[in-house]
Amino acid sequence: MTPACNFDVLVIGSGGAGLSLALRLPAQLRVAVLSKSRLEEGSTLYAQGGISAVTDPEDSFEAHIRDTLIAGAGLNRPQAVRFAIEKAPEAIRWLIDLGVPFTRHTNTHGHLGYHLTREGGHSTRRVLHAADATGRAIENTLVTKARERSNITLFEHHIAVDLITGAKLGLRENRCLGAYILNRELNQVEVFASRCVVLATGGASKVYLYTSNPDTSTGDGIAMAWRAGCRVADLEFNQFHPTCLYHPKAKSFLVTEAVRGEGGHLLLPDKTPFMHRFDERGDLAPRDIVARAIDHEMKRLGLEYVLLDISHKPAPFIKEHFPNVFARCRELGYDMTLEPIPVVPAAHYTCGGVVTDLQGCTDLPGLYAIGEVACTGMHGANRMASNSLLECLVFAASASEHIAAGVTAIPQPPVIPEWDVSRVRDSDEEVVVSHNWDELRRCMWNYVGIVRTSKRLQRAARRVELLQQEIQEYYSNFTISNDLLELRNLAQVAELIIRSAQQRKESRGLHYTLDYPEPDTSHEPTDTVLTPDMPAGGGIED
Ligand SMILES: Cc1cc2nc3c(=O)[nH]c(=O)nc-3n(C[C@H](O)[C@H](O)[C@H](O)COP(=O)(O)OP(=O)(O)OC[C@H]3O[C@@H](n4cnc5c(N)ncnc54)[C@H](O)[C@@H]3O)c2cc1C
Repeated sequence: MTPACNFDVLVIGSGGAGLSLALRLPAQLRVAVLSKSRLEEGSTLYAQGGISAVTDPEDSFEAHIRDTLIAGAGLNRPQAVRFAIEKAPEAIRWLIDLGVPFTRHTNTHGHLGYHLTREGGHSTRRVLHAADATGRAIENTLVTKARERSNITLFEHHIAVDLITGAKLGLRENRCLGAYILNRELNQVEVFASRCVVLATGGASKVYLYTSNPDTSTGDGIAMAWRAGCRVADLEFNQFHPTCLYHPKAKSFLVTEAVRGEGGHLLLPDKTPFMHRFDERGDLAPRDIVARAIDHEMKRLGLEYVLLDISHKPAPFIKEHFPNVFARCRELGYDMTLEPIPVVPAAHYTCGGVVTDLQGCTDLPGLYAIGEVACTGMHGANRMASNSLLECLVFAASASEHIAAGVTAIPQPPVIPEWDVSRVRDSDEEVVVSHNWDELRRCMWNYVGIVRTSKRLQRAARRVELLQQEIQEYYSNFTISNDLLELRNLAQVAELIIRSAQQRKESRGLHYTLDYPEPDTSHEPTDTVLTPDMPAGGGIED
């Protein structure tokens, strides 16, 4: 049967990574870009701070590399770090040429250039930004450009269910041949055949109860690649942002760390300060230390949240420095000029992911992974601020070059069987999905969160295994839905995170366990690499 959709390149994900790759491909290739939600929705849209690159003559590649390696705590792949950082200025130039409105600035010599900010871990100012909504400026520009391209077909509300591989079809050559896609509007699964497939599905921070990420970050790409036989690495390194607003209607609203930078204090609900007990820098300690301290106090006292107070500063100062935070808090009934606001730490970034080389190739021939879904080795054990958008852009460029050079030599995919719905029926118990969804995220938050122990990980492993059994049973018997697919993927990623965390018998970067509170210095740091039972059998070099 001829598939409904046949392309040269199928890009799953329309964030910074996916759209950049699609736009960089030659115009004669037929490209499909999928988004499981609206085209713009994804982490890229919400990135605030900016994107790092060496653009100031006083800065250097060596300094940017050094800072990134320090943050990564010995686990970065130096080759990947150098590759991304040396290609960063070209990536920025490309965005500027597309029309991204980075904030401009006239220096003391009267020269007009781009304004650079400095963020945690960077030894100098090197972060380009578009006011405090950089991701929005990038995403909107990419979407506008993609809509203008006649060779790119955009599919909103289409969620990839699973990859189609030669092995799954019983063919001799194992390569990626496309994907089964649930058209959410028609509620039917369609076959998208393609000469090659790019996973650009973002991270997996929704696996935790509290997250700064949008609903799309459910680790779908990691789970799909794993099921297709690809290795994953370093999934124990989950970055938590210390302060997300605690409110049922503000489930992913970040309160910038600059609030503490400008004099804000973290307090317990009875208004007692506590950060000085954890670090001599108090409220200005680095992000991971603050997140750990808040988590400690919340667990110790059974709290739902702690408070962040800057109300001692003059109201005009607060409104001028934090217009967005002030406005959002007001919408939700808090006046931060008069009172403290409730905050919790929140899962923010997935450092690990699908193992790739510098061209985004995975273990499965014909399958690429770029952006937050991938583990290129750039971030090591801790991502430095503003290096992630950069990684999206640079690896989108290198993967597009690799695809452009080889795709026309790849034969059209063979006949692919339709999605089989003969053995499933409509569910009469949707509540199982929502219940398991909550249980999974709460379990990950409580046992596999900011501070871990071997016992907590073991507990989590048992619960996740049970949940996976229930979810698999449900998946086999009932018609699939968006929520069920996401839950299945989240549970898969949860299992992989727990297994990775259990393997690391030390504390390093973002992985902190009370049972091994120090880094293991008895040998060179190593990545945690998990290999599926049925490996794809391709071949990228480590
Ligand atoms: C609040 C916030 C602030 C941040 N600030 C910064 C910052 O200042 N600087 C920085 O460098 N980084 C920042 N980050 C991180 C950065 O934004 C992300 O790492 C980056 O945008 C990820 O881009 P991506 O293209 O890989 O994924 P995303 O932008 O998340 O896009 C994922 C895409 O995949 C689609 N998708 C997912 N699964 C499927 C599926 N199964 N089928 C079809 N489509 C699917 C989604 O619909 C979406 O289109 C921030 C993140 C957040 C959440």
